[in-house]
Amino acid sequence: MTAIPINGNAIAGRIRARVAREVALLKRQRDITPGLAVVLVGDDPASSVYVRTKARHAQAVGFTSQQFLLPVHVAETELLTLIQALNIDDSVDGILVQLPLPSHIDRWRVLEAIDPSKDVDGFHPYNAGRLAAGRPALVPCTPLGVLHLIKTVVSDLNGLDVVVIGRSNIVGKPLAVLLGDAGCTVTGAQLQTRNLPDLCRQSDIVVSAAGSAGLVRGDWLKPGAIVIDVGINRAIDSTGAPKLVGDVAFTEATKRAGYITPVPGGVGPMTVAYLLANTVSAAVSRRGFQLSLDHEHDQVRSSCRRWQDCAADLQATT
Ligand code: NAD
Repeated sequence: MTAIPINGNAIAGRIRARVAREVALLKRQRDITPGLAVVLVGDDPASSVYVRTKARHAQAVGFTSQQFLLPVHVAETELLTLIQALNIDDSVDGILVQLPLPSHIDRWRVLEAIDPSKDVDGFHPYNAGRLAAGRPALVPCTPLGVLHLIKTVVSDLNGLDVVVIGRSNIVGKPLAVLLGDAGCTVTGAQLQTRNLPDLCRQSDIVVSAAGSAGLVRGDWLKPGAIVIDVGINRAIDSTGAPKLVGDVAFTEATKRAGYITPVPGGVGPMTVAYLLANTVSAAVSRRGFQLSLDHEHDQVRSSCRRWQDCAADLQATT
C-alpha cells in the first residue's frame, strides 16, 4: 500500500479563496473590512516568519492587516496596554499574539487580556470553555484545519477510533473535543502514555502533535489509517542542509497508511487558512449578524456544532 498524500497547500488555497469571496461580500453588502492585528514580541526567526506569512495572507484576502513588532525586553504592562487599545479599536476584529512569549511575560495574563470576541486563535479560556461545552466559540485554528483535512478523506467520522498524540491547549485538547463532537472515540495520548504503538495500531486515524521527529513509526499504523502529522521539527538532510520534518516517520508510514499529510505542506497552511476564516467569523459575530455560505469550511464549522446556529442572512447575490 502507498498512502495517498493529503495536499494541505491546495485545500488551504481553496479556503483562502473562499474567505476572500466572503470579505468581498462583507465589503459590498455591509461596508465591513475585517481587520487582523498580529503582535510579535522579540525577533525569534521562526515566529517572525509565521507573523509575516499571516500578515501576507491577511492582506491577500482583503483584510486590513496590522503588525506590532515589540522589542524582546518590552514590559508586560506595555504589551497589555497595546492589547487594551486593540480591544477597543473597532477596526480590529482579530487579535493574535504570536507565541511563545519571552519568559518575563505571563502568557496567560496576556491571552486572557484579549477580548474573547476578537480571540481568533481561540486560546482564551472563555473560548476554550465554550468549545468544551459545545457552545459557539472561536476555535483554535490548527485543530479546525486538522478536522477539515480528515473530512476531505472521510465525511462521516461516527464511530471511528482516533488517537491524538499531544494534549496542548493549542492543538491536542481542542482537537480531541472537535473529534469527539464529530462522533469519534478519541484517545488522548501524551508523554506519560503507555503502549502508544498499540494505541496507534488500533486507531483508524492517528494525529500526532508531539513535536518529536520520527515518533510515529510505520509499523505502529493500522493498514489504511489516516495519518495527520501536525509536528514541525527542525532536522538536517543528507547534504547537511536544514529541513523541516514532522512527527511521523514519513517513508515508513506511507507504506502502511491510507492517507497521510506531508510536512511541510500538510497542516501548516491549514492553520493560516483557519486564522483567516476565524477573523471573518469574529468580524461577523461581533456585529451581531451571521455569515453562512455553502462551502467546505462551513461544513467543518457545522460539523463542529459551534456554527449550527448560523443564519444565512448574507448570501452571495452576484
Ligand atoms: P506542546 O509542547 O505544547 O505539547 C506537546 C504534547 O505532546 C504534550 O502533551 C506532550 O506530553 C506530548 N508529547 C511530547 N512528546 C511525546 C512523546 N514522545 N510521546 C507522546 N506524547 C508526547 O506542543 P504543541 O504546541 O502542541 O505543538 C506540538 C507540535 O506541533 C510542535 O512540533 C509544533 O511545532 C507543532 N505545531 C504545528 C502547527 C501547524 O500549524 N502545523 C501548529 C501548532 C503546533
